[in-house]
Amino acid sequence: MESALTARDRVGVQDFVLLENYNSEATFIENLRRRFGENLIYTYIGSVLVSVNPYKDLEIYSKTQMERYRGVSFYEISPHIYALSDNTYRAMRTERKDQCILISGESGAGKTEASKKILLYYAVTCPTNDHMATLGECLLQSNPVLEAFGNAKTLKNDNSSRFGKYMDVQFDFRGAPVGGHIQNFLLEKTRVVHQNQGERNFHVFYQLLDGGDDDLLKALDLQRNPQNYNYLVKGNCPRLSSVSDKNNWKVVMKALSVIGFTEEERVLNIIASVLHLGNTQFGEGEEGETYITSETQLNLTAKLLGVDGSALREALTHKKLTAKGEEMISPLNFEQAVSARDALAKSVYGRTFTWLVQKINQSLTVKVHSKGSSVIGLLDIYGFEVLQHNSFEQFCINYCNEKLQQLFIELTLRSEQEEYETEGIAWETVQYFDNKIICDLIEEKHKGIISILNEECLRPGETCDVSFLEKLEDTLGGHPHFVTHKLANGKTRRIMSREEFRLLHYAGEVNYNMTFMNAFICLKRIAATQFKNSLMKLKEILMSKEPSYVRCIKPNDAKQPERFDEVLVRHQVKYLGLMENLRVRRAGFAYRRRFEAFLQRYKPLCPETWPNWHGRLADGVSTLVNHLGYKEEEYKLGRSKIFIRFPKTLFATEDALEAK
Ligand code: ADP
Ligand code: MG
Repeated sequence: MESALTARDRVGVQDFVLLENYNSEATFIENLRRRFGENLIYTYIGSVLVSVNPYKDLEIYSKTQMERYRGVSFYEISPHIYALSDNTYRAMRTERKDQCILISGESGAGKTEASKKILLYYAVTCPTNDHMATLGECLLQSNPVLEAFGNAKTLKNDNSSRFGKYMDVQFDFRGAPVGGHIQNFLLEKTRVVHQNQGERNFHVFYQLLDGGDDDLLKALDLQRNPQNYNYLVKGNCPRLSSVSDKNNWKVVMKALSVIGFTEEERVLNIIASVLHLGNTQFGEGEEGETYITSETQLNLTAKLLGVDGSALREALTHKKLTAKGEEMISPLNFEQAVSARDALAKSVYGRTFTWLVQKINQSLTVKVHSKGSSVIGLLDIYGFEVLQHNSFEQFCINYCNEKLQQLFIELTLRSEQEEYETEGIAWETVQYFDNKIICDLIEEKHKGIISILNEECLRPGETCDVSFLEKLEDTLGGHPHFVTHKLANGKTRRIMSREEFRLLHYAGEVNYNMTFMNAFICLKRIAATQFKNSLMKLKEILMSKEPSYVRCIKPNDAKQPERFDEVLVRHQVKYLGLMENLRVRRAGFAYRRRFEAFLQRYKPLCPETWPNWHGRLADGVSTLVNHLGYKEEEYKLGRSKIFIRFPKTLFATEDALEAK
């Protein structure tokens, strides 16, 4: 067993609760920085795992490493994602309670890698079920498929997940994985038709063009060069240096066959149809009517989608209105036709993604029902996002993070309180920022932003954005977390435009642009409510489970190893709420350990407990700490654990042990 039962690693402390000056953000960051410099990317805050992306392969994920962490208690060994995985698994087994692991952090911080490592740990270390030896494999193989269709290169991450994912892994009574279920959230569909400079569309398009064989491309009428497709050129970034689309194509095809997917042809037809649709062009007639100038593309799209060509033409150039019970067909102008085309592409792609997830779920369905099964849920969800222009998508993402932060605080406080209760120690109130006020601002019935948005969209009219903003000002003016140009004071006003509203999120301020919002609002009115409902449901699911947390941090924006950008890290520490978390955890006692573990480690320091204590454990600990001269205010004995208030007490004891 490693000697570092608790306190200090080679550098820094391996648990932030052991920082003497726990209120100091600078000390916190210094501890992270020093550990990062030594490739110690993991650190705890109590039972929360903080992880800093090393941007290089560390040799800490091998099978041998997995064995080291198996069945070993959290604090007996250096912090690791495997320790958290193992602890969660054991808690599920021994307490028979469903668990969940919540992974958060900004794009590129290492969330998806962490979730893959957890899955791998279970696939390798858990017993296998004879009937379903392949389930672990299916679980693992679902990743390349989801990544091909749901990930893309962005400026922040070459393999950025553009959707949120919650995955349940089900275990039978022997602890063997027997089933799984994936729930996806809010795919960033805009990317199908538009990419920012330096970014790409979803991987699968490039993989197909690069990796598909000649016959396949011919059948789909595709050319190899992505530059030929309007939907692939917006970001000016056809290739990635870090990965091979060609190889990944093979990986994805193999993964699909492991999963038992039999409808490749359909999926590929749809992917190809989106590319052809993107190349479908329009012309404008003398009377402002729109017609299609690229019949070939139109017909290819129709053929691949299995729809009638003239029906598709009609759908792209006309709209259907119902007035007084009568249907009227009216032509679309050029811009409208372009957005109709793009909307169709987004919707086709989005539905295909959801359908794929359903197919994967079918392959993960529990086929052998067993009694006494339990679940570990994994949540890998986009972090707080602030872009130059923030629209509806950022609004949803940040709302989601606000919700998860609320859950995090509720659950951390709850588990602290529960531990104090079971140990029979008086609870000490903790001061913390409760972000419920911001969640309410967004989701409250009748007067929350989503409600107002819904109401506004029911009203006809072109000035949706202005009246929406006015309505927001009327209803929410005076709310401490809501600001607009009109409501802002002089200083803030200068940096706000009249088309924006600002939310003061727990993680920082974000301006949401109405002109950007507006394009989405009415189209996505239902989406907003659906999203809210799915978040409510998610919260319920998570609340019913015992949570563990992985908080991922990105050390620099250059995606490079060995670089620790303090400003960037400080920002993340803030918006992950880590200082708040530490404060809650440290409010009473810095350190707590079960009697037997404490006695085992420190018994050499007292003649009465050495070499063995034969009485009650609590008495042994009491004898030991009296001998060490602990003062009354420095510690408390619970029912099964000793609680030590200050790290320095513990360090003095550690030093005494070392000196011996
Ligand atoms: P996120 O899901 O948070 O956006 P990812 O998990 O995709 O971020 O990580 C981004 C990139 O960082 C990965 O593609 C990988 O190159 C690197 N990375 C992340 N975590 C690790 C790790 N533990 N070890 C080595 N590299 C990592
Ligand atoms: Mg990701």
